[in-house]
Parts: sequence; structure tokens; C-alpha cells
Amino acid sequence: MVRIAIAGFLHETNTFVQRPTGMDAFLTADAWPGLVQGAALFDAVAGANIAIAGFIKEAAAHHHELVPLLWTSANPSGPVTQHAYEKIWAMLACELEQAMPVDALFLDLHGAMVAEHIDDGEGELLARIRAIIGPDVPIVAALDFHANISPRMVALTDAMTVYRTYPHVDMSDTGRRAAVVLQCIQAGERLHKAYRQIPFLIPLPWQCTLIEPLSALMHLVEQLERDGNVSASIVPGFPLADIYDCGPTVIAYGADAAATEAVAQRLFDAMLAQRDAFSGKLWSAAQAVSHALASSGDGTIILADTQDNPGGGAAGDTTDILHELVRQRAPDACIGLLCDPAAAATAHAAGVGATLELALGAHSGIGAAPLAGRYIVEALGNGQFTGTGPFYLGCKMSLGAMARLRLDGIQILVTSHKQQAADQAMFRHLDVDPARQRILVLKSSVHFRADFARLAREILIVAASGENVADLAQLRYKKLRPGVSTGIELEGHL
Ligand SMILES: [Zn+2]
Repeated sequence: MVRIAIAGFLHETNTFVQRPTGMDAFLTADAWPGLVQGAALFDAVAGANIAIAGFIKEAAAHHHELVPLLWTSANPSGPVTQHAYEKIWAMLACELEQAMPVDALFLDLHGAMVAEHIDDGEGELLARIRAIIGPDVPIVAALDFHANISPRMVALTDAMTVYRTYPHVDMSDTGRRAAVVLQCIQAGERLHKAYRQIPFLIPLPWQCTLIEPLSALMHLVEQLERDGNVSASIVPGFPLADIYDCGPTVIAYGADAAATEAVAQRLFDAMLAQRDAFSGKLWSAAQAVSHALASSGDGTIILADTQDNPGGGAAGDTTDILHELVRQRAPDACIGLLCDPAAAATAHAAGVGATLELALGAHSGIGAAPLAGRYIVEALGNGQFTGTGPFYLGCKMSLGAMARLRLDGIQILVTSHKQQAADQAMFRHLDVDPARQRILVLKSSVHFRADFARLAREILIVAASGENVADLAQLRYKKLRPGVSTGIELEGHL
């Protein structure tokens, strides 16, 4: 039995978003728990598709003593405030110092955290942790598929496992894999680290592992891992981060240095060979709506409002597609989830059946104006429900007051806290069956596919207004490494 401290501090930071991420965002529960410390951590994450839950289950099966320190996450947004970063660090440091001595440390990290005063949020965190626990206590970490892994992160950890799926349906399993690697380290294996940074950024919609080229690349990872007796990852990274170490990476760990380097090189070469394949079609809002309306046949057409995806840091309240549905007189469409806490509160005060004069959405000031109109309140919800799809499975949602509003043929699912529309339970909470919708507009880039793709006759990736920009060549990066390219050509009609 070994004594393992466990902790989590997760944020995916979109540095192009102006709204900073403060302490409140880390304290508040959303799809994931709010900040928890000590033994409360076990209950808070139990059963959820979260890396630390998978680690706990696997480590407990080996009868290790787990010392829970702290776990917190916040919805993707702008840089973490210096105050929040330092406050959470102070809490974590205090817990860790009290837990000492420990034999190992497991960290549940995102890998793309940027704070106001620190570009490499995880690298700095690991350096501070090392200063407390010393150079010899093993640290293993589980990372998000969108981690921008820096050389510092590699140097300061003994091993890192990374989600293999986008939609992330294997978050818990990634934690389990971290526990397996730690078991090898505890058994005395010395793991060589191989690491490569890839010199181009990949737009989020084409990082999906359900489609090529990443579907085949992820199979290659698993094959090389089996054949080479290594732990290996392709990590596509989070492109909306203007930092030096932004971008995809390859990492591998194994007892045989030459074999481990060979696996990493093979994956690096495979990624470079697919460079031009990380691309696809982007639709304008007008074209997507007219295509959907002209399309005949049964089944749902999904419009992925990728650039307003809160899961990539966007506001989740833009109205471009909503305006377009009204302009083209869509007879039957449903939009989820539009963040407008004031509209949700007004709907709750008025009650089901009431008609409200509202200017809905777009309070972030991004994109088209709020949509003024007479909305009927059709359903209300308290935002408390459990995720049922593969991505949010078991997550206890806390989205605040919710309402289903109708404007002619269009239903809008309004929420008080922004959250990516990636689970059918979000719709059922307001008595909507997503499978019966002719046009479904989802504020999501890729995660929606886990629970919605099987309903879809067609999926259109729409580039309406929003801060989760798909065409990276439009962004003005200043800090990327020399030679890193953002300009994969996209097939679009913009
Ligand atoms: Zn991710």
C-alpha cells in the first residue's frame, strides 16, 4: 500500500476572450462540481466521467491510501485572474503540506490553463508542487485532449495520460490509465519520456476522433502502444491560446528509451503527413439555415454553432443563427442552450403560458443584437438534473433557472449558467425530445456528437459570431513559437 495525494485544478483558457475567469467560477458547480476540499472530494466526483473518479476507482482497487487535497474546475473562458490562481494555489499548497509525507501525487489537470500573470498555468503549478514534495516523489497527471503541453510540464512529471477521444467519453478511463502507469513506476520501472511539438494548430471542429484523420491516428496510437509496450498520446491541443507552447504534441513513456523515441517519432510523422486533412466545410448562418429548410426527408439536421461554444470559452449567448431562423421563417427549429439569466428569471416570475416582451440573448455584446420579440413561456426548469449521454454521463448539472421560450416556430432553451449543449438530458429537462426536432441548433463544436450524432441526418458546422473561432488564420497570434502555422485552408462560404 502506498500513500497517494490526489488533486485537481482544471481550466481551459481562451486567451482571445476578454472576460477573465475569477474565483466564483471555480467555486460554483456547473456540469462538474464546484471547489471541494478533503474527504468531500470523493462524494463530489463519484460516478462522474471525470479523470480523478477513474483514478480513485483504480487506485482503491489496489488498496492504496488516497489523501484527497482539493479539486476545482471552471467553465472555459478568458485568463484565470491572478487572485483566483494564487488563492487556489494557496489552498492546495496548504492541503499538500499537511498531507506530507506522501509516496506519490496524482493530478487531474486540463493542460491549457493560462492565468493573467502566467502563460503556462500547469507548468508553474507543477514547479511549485515540486518545491514542496521534492524531486523524487512520482507525479502522474491526467490531461485533457486539448492540453497545450509545455516542455516544463513534461520535465516536472513522471508520466501524463491524455484523453483519447473528442467527444471526451474516456475522461474517467484516462484517470484509470494514470493509475496503471503509476503502478509501474511504484514497481520500480524507470520510464523514458519522449516528447514532440507539432508545428501547426488544428481548428477544434476537425479535432473530432469520430472522423478522419484523428480516428485513424488514434487507432495508430493504440496499436503502437500495444506493440511497443509504451504509454503514448497524440494531443491535439487547444488552439485558442496565444502562448508560446500552444499546439499539438506527441508524448510517449516506456522502459526502453529507443523504442519509446521510435513510437513518438512515428506518431509525429503520422500527424505531419495528415496536416492538410485537419480541415472541412464551414457554413455561414444564412447558408446553413437555407440549406436545412430546403432539405427534405425525415430526421434532424444539426447546426453546430461552433464559434459560440461555451466549451471553448465563448459566451453561449449569441443570436446570429436565431435571427437567421426568424428571417427565413423556419417553421420548426429548436436552439440550445442560450445563456440569458435575466430572461430565465423573467420567465420564472411570469410562469408557464405567459407571454413576455423580451430582447433575448447577446448580452455579451458579441455578434447580432438581442432578438426582440413576444416569447411564450412553454416550460420551466431549475437546471438540476443528471447527464445521461456518454460525455456528461453521471454529471450532476447545476445550470440555474432554465426556461423554454417559443417565438413562432422556434423554441429556445434558455439557461442561467452557460454550458455546452452536449447532452440530451438538457433538452428533456425542459420536455423537449431532441429526436423530434427538424432543425436542432447546438452551441457546441464536437462534444454534441457523443449524444446527438445518431439523431442527425446531416451535421453542418456553422461559423456564426463567437469567440471560439474555427478559422484560426483570422486570429492575431503574437506569442506562438517561430514556425507554428495557423493557416490550414478551410472549405467555406464565408
Ligand atoms: Zn477538451
